[in-house]
Amino acid sequence: MFSHNYTSKIVPRFALSMTKIHNFSAGPSILAGSAFEKSIEDIKNFANTGLSILEISHRSKEFESIMDQANAIVRELMSVPENYDVLFLGGGASTQFFQIPHNFLRTSAAYTKTGVWAAGAIKEAKLYGEVNVIASSEADNYNYVPKDYSIPADADYFHCTSNNTIYGTQMKQFPSSPVPLICDMSSDIFSRPVDTSKFSLIYAGAQKNMGPAGVTLVIVDKAMYDRRASRPIPSMLDYKLHGEKGSMYNTPPVFPILVSLYNLQWVKENGGVAGMEARNNAKAELLYNTIDNNPLFSGTCAVEDRSHMNACFVLNDPNPEMEQKFAAACKEAGISGIKGHRSVGGYRASMYNALPLESVQALVNVMNTFA
Ligand SMILES: *Cc1c(COP(=O)(O)O)cnc(C)c1O
Repeated sequence: MFSHNYTSKIVPRFALSMTKIHNFSAGPSILAGSAFEKSIEDIKNFANTGLSILEISHRSKEFESIMDQANAIVRELMSVPENYDVLFLGGGASTQFFQIPHNFLRTSAAYTKTGVWAAGAIKEAKLYGEVNVIASSEADNYNYVPKDYSIPADADYFHCTSNNTIYGTQMKQFPSSPVPLICDMSSDIFSRPVDTSKFSLIYAGAQKNMGPAGVTLVIVDKAMYDRRASRPIPSMLDYKLHGEKGSMYNTPPVFPILVSLYNLQWVKENGGVAGMEARNNAKAELLYNTIDNNPLFSGTCAVEDRSHMNACFVLNDPNPEMEQKFAAACKEAGISGIKGHRSVGGYRASMYNALPLESVQALVNVMNTFA
């Protein structure tokens, strides 16, 4: 049997980075160490086939088993009702920005504009019909989540973004919607329990809180297939077809699906989404307490809307010398990826599921020592 002649050099490198680098990257972002270890094995010898996961047919029974397990674990973690499809698609969340209106925008759809990603979804929807922006926090650089709006009963659907990755705001509650509720959960899926049955469609690019870049999760109520627009739907944009084919209409992103499965197994072993919520609450509390009590720093958004995934903060009295000193202190402590998005500036610490509390403690220690 052919066997790959890999050295194990990569393993110590990973072991080192898992322990020494505190990865606050906004995305692609930190994954469970076990997901790397298991997938490295599958690159060398997948399911005892003597072949790599990277060179085996997606129609093989070994990969079909991975797809089945990935489907099952999403259903279990998210309590997905029977009458929903769970799809693993390509194209990123950005493809969902137009795939959704292509399928479901007949006349008019309602959107909230809560950040750059929501604005991207709105822009694409406008290609297909009327877009009713029923609430926006754009005038305040998206530093809060609007709550005071009503969803028109004649809209084809209502689209919202659960977590605004760039600004560090998060919907703590979802409105009850008279029309199908569609949500971009790219940056907080699996971070807390949500009632999936309230949503007609949930989507998430994997690379924030589920797995590596390259696969997009879609959870869709099959009842939506009867609400499709009359325009022709190319096969690759047809949710129903992807559902019927078990996400195997074309070659699915096999490796990102595999790594996502392993990452979600880690989520399950650590208490599922309720366990993640407890972890994420503890991390967020520690960091936001520090931001609020440390005289050098301030948070940038409404306290009640603060994201438990991405915490944005600034130096109160920024000057190049202080910024350089803080950057050097972070680097020294192994803190990586806290530079804020260019549209907000300052700092953004992303605390996705796999980030341990110790990493937040390391950041907090630097902030306190710095003060
Ligand atoms: C990152 C992100 C996107 C874009 O995802 P891609 O997979 O890169 O297309 C969309 N929405 C939100 C909320 C995001 O955080």
